[in-house]
Amino acid sequence: MSFQNFNLHPSIMAGVEGLGYTVPTPIQMQAIPPIMQGRDIIGLAQTGTGKTAAFLLPVLHRLMQLPRGKIGALVISPTRELAEQTCEAIDDLGKKTGLNSIAIYGGVGMDQQVRRLRNGVEIAVACPGRLLDHIWKGTIDLSHLDMLVIDEADRMFDMGFLPDIKSILKCVMQRRQTLLFSATMPADIKKLINETLKNPVTVQIGHSAPAASVSHALYPVKQHLKSALLIEFLKRNATESVLIFTRTKHRTDRVALQLKRAGFRASCLHGDMAQKKRQAALDDFRSGSIKILVATDIAARGIDVLSISHVINYDMPDSTDAYTHRIGRTGRIDQKGDALTFVTHEDAALIRDIERILKAALERRTLDGFDYTAPAPAVAYERSAVPSRGYSTARPRIRSR
Ligand code: AMP
Repeated sequence: MSFQNFNLHPSIMAGVEGLGYTVPTPIQMQAIPPIMQGRDIIGLAQTGTGKTAAFLLPVLHRLMQLPRGKIGALVISPTRELAEQTCEAIDDLGKKTGLNSIAIYGGVGMDQQVRRLRNGVEIAVACPGRLLDHIWKGTIDLSHLDMLVIDEADRMFDMGFLPDIKSILKCVMQRRQTLLFSATMPADIKKLINETLKNPVTVQIGHSAPAASVSHALYPVKQHLKSALLIEFLKRNATESVLIFTRTKHRTDRVALQLKRAGFRASCLHGDMAQKKRQAALDDFRSGSIKILVATDIAARGIDVLSISHVINYDMPDSTDAYTHRIGRTGRIDQKGDALTFVTHEDAALIRDIERILKAALERRTLDGFDYTAPAPAVAYERSAVPSRGYSTARPRIRSR
């Protein structure tokens, strides 16, 4: 099958060709025809499968037939990064269409967004909270909405956005078509689907297991030796671009600092950083001027960098789904990728779950010559140790009565 089979508007085909896409990915093959027929869709696809173009191509095609200057399509995104990235994909795929998009998210002033909305756009890509602000203030007009896309629905649910989504849905009742994408299908998302979508077609790619082109390995290590192991690994291995996940914002800062001190060019990305700094870190990582990015799960949503060679879980994620999402950052569209996870004895149960999903035992590796027996530096470790899964590994303080 080729993109020609979809009968997309020639201006959109120009965008597809401009990006060098030649063969549609499996999710595109399955999702685009029913969306073009006007069907509601549930897309069960992990990241890196080409799901963004799977919904954007038919959305752009539809918008070519609708009035200009009115919002005909709304994409709801869990994070600002994903919203920005979706707008970039719209810019690329829709380069020749003359269609305009806007990314709407909080943490930045509203005025500029209001001005752009007043000037007229056809697609809004919005995070739920700020979108509701605009709806309540009457600064966005969704009365011409034709298509609604709910992207990464499971993530929005994890982030507590479900009530916001339900409020938004009440404001866009007149829409013709709804597309919902999710890597996993928790019960609340199923309920939302039953309440919201009309006779939907389900397209499913690869279950929720990570891409097959990723090789996975576990590095058992004591908590206090993780940074030393990380630095040693990076010194010894030729890595192209590396995304490191930690469990907390504080750890993200600390690991990035330790890497910089060890002579690596590294940045960090987490939700406490100002939007400008987050964007700068992402841009530097994308352009390759920074090869190592240390991030928390939420901040890393939507990081779309094709050449990530290594994902390193400095800390184990807290669920198999989070593992899938993290690992989905490498091995995109069947490029090769390595996924390394530093594990301590506390992680045994989750490792079993991941192995069950992957249907294979994960290889345990050690780094030759690395001193796995080095003791924890008593004081320093107690200070810098960060609570692991909600409880502290530091010695408990004795309360005086
Ligand atoms: P996504 O799953 O939407 O995050 O897409 C992952 C990456 O795949 C993005 O960088 C897209 O530009 C790229 N991509 C999407 N569709 C195709 C295609 N048909 N051929 C090659 N690359 C693609």
